[in-house]
Amino acid sequence: MARSRGRPREIVECVPSIDIGALRRAGIFAIPEKKALRAWTVDADIVDLAPIVWDGRRLALRNQFIEIEREPCPFGGERYYFSCYCHRRVTKLYSANDGPWRCRHCYGLTYRTCQEAPRDRYRSKAQRIRESLGGGPNLLDDFPPRPRSMHRKRYEGLKARHSEAANRATTLLASLVFGLNKRPGSSG
Ligand SMILES: [Zn+2]
Repeated sequence: MARSRGRPREIVECVPSIDIGALRRAGIFAIPEKKALRAWTVDADIVDLAPIVWDGRRLALRNQFIEIEREPCPFGGERYYFSCYCHRRVTKLYSANDGPWRCRHCYGLTYRTCQEAPRDRYRSKAQRIRESLGGGPNLLDDFPPRPRSMHRKRYEGLKARHSEAANRATTLLASLVFGLNKRPGSSG
């Protein structure tokens, strides 16, 4: 019988991905025209092996050119982003079903949030906001600076949503640690 709700959305963790930070750490951008071989794993299984070449502006990968954007950081150095086909600037690209490298929005990929406990959901939300601004997932790090291309109002909005999610995650964690036996609504 046909399922009325259609195919479930794929989850990002189950799709091969490239991460700009990992590529930088691997030295891909250090030497133009250097060929590197890159392996993709999903749940520790190698699912793909492909050469990757950086020409100083674009990455060539599996017959696809991926535009790279660089933005100087206020305190030196540069941030790198993939420029997706949809013009979104992202730090991760995915290849669902051996398709081209695209951002998670293009593929409609979903995070595993619906299966997470509320505390993890808030933490994931805060982490996603950080990562969308080119930051790392650590909630204890400084909040990432505003990308030059982003409107100040949008940045402030993201920052407020991040604070709320991070605070809720912390509060829920604290209540887990200090109030294991308490249940909400059972005061008195
Ligand atoms: Zn996209």
